[in-house]
Amino acid sequence: MLQAKDLIKRYDKTLAVSSISFSVKKGEIFGLLGPNGAGKSTTINIITGLIRKDGGKVTIDGLDLDRELTQCKHKLGIVPQDLAIYNDLTAEQNVRFFGSLYGLRGKQLEESARETLKLVGLYDHRRQRAKTFSGGMKRRLNIACGLVHKPQLLILDEPTVGIDPQSRNHILESILELNRQGMTVLYTTHYMEEAQQLCQRIAIMDSGQIVAQGSLAQLKALVQEHWYITMSLQGTVPLEKLRLVSGVEQIDIRENSYRFTLKDKKNQLRDLLDLLIHDQVEITDMAISEPDLEDIFLTLTGKRLRD
Ligand code: ADP
Repeated sequence: MLQAKDLIKRYDKTLAVSSISFSVKKGEIFGLLGPNGAGKSTTINIITGLIRKDGGKVTIDGLDLDRELTQCKHKLGIVPQDLAIYNDLTAEQNVRFFGSLYGLRGKQLEESARETLKLVGLYDHRRQRAKTFSGGMKRRLNIACGLVHKPQLLILDEPTVGIDPQSRNHILESILELNRQGMTVLYTTHYMEEAQQLCQRIAIMDSGQIVAQGSLAQLKALVQEHWYITMSLQGTVPLEKLRLVSGVEQIDIRENSYRFTLKDKKNQLRDLLDLLIHDQVEITDMAISEPDLEDIFLTLTGKRLRD
């Protein structure tokens, strides 16, 4: 459905997107996952024709974005990070307005507006002005405006930032439902839980580059040499000494719990435990778990994904 090849975008000295390539298959939800500043919005803005790229090629359903921009735009539904709705219009007027921009008229527009408002759970509020909506409802309306014309590829840029959990769940459910109905989705987020819950394939972005891409299983396989162990520790934890234990790659502290990334599985755990016992640190809980996307990101980049 979408092919992005060797995309480059510079802002003065910042290389916001540094020769990235990926493709989105028809019918899948593809995620761009990365921390703030990774280059996700820039990538999306290139694909939607909003900004000019400095290099590379984008094809949408076989059409070249540079040469066939208008036809490409008709295939796309865009849900930008910043709200693009009119506060003085009702929910229904907003959706109808965006539908009409894409050429929908009459009965087709009416039906599509109704279906879309139902999907995002705003049908009962259709006669209310957008300015009376909560942040979550505005986001849902923003999504409705992006998909009223039934695009083949829906592109959402961090659609759940700063909203309540209920609206967030509603949005995620709506996207899954759209995908079940056959819509292809490109979704950017810095929340690994969302990428894990929604996406069949994920590209992990950092500093303008794609660090890795594939299904969750394929991404996990990239770090299969590693072991991820969480311990709850009481007492004075000798952090610096723990970092020096051979094979300890990362120690990620989440409140009282210490998440260790160990390279080469067997001996390192023994050394780690020996040190804790020697320093009289009490281990109140310990679990070895599968890596999640946060672990994978940390192992591949040495940085944390979350804020
Ligand atoms: P993300 O969406 O992953 O948070 P962005 O694509 O917004 O990342 O930003 C990538 C990099 O490009 C950042 O370093 C950001 O500061 C820079 N950048 C983005 N937009 C502009 C702009 N209009 N002018 C200058 N720098 C920009």
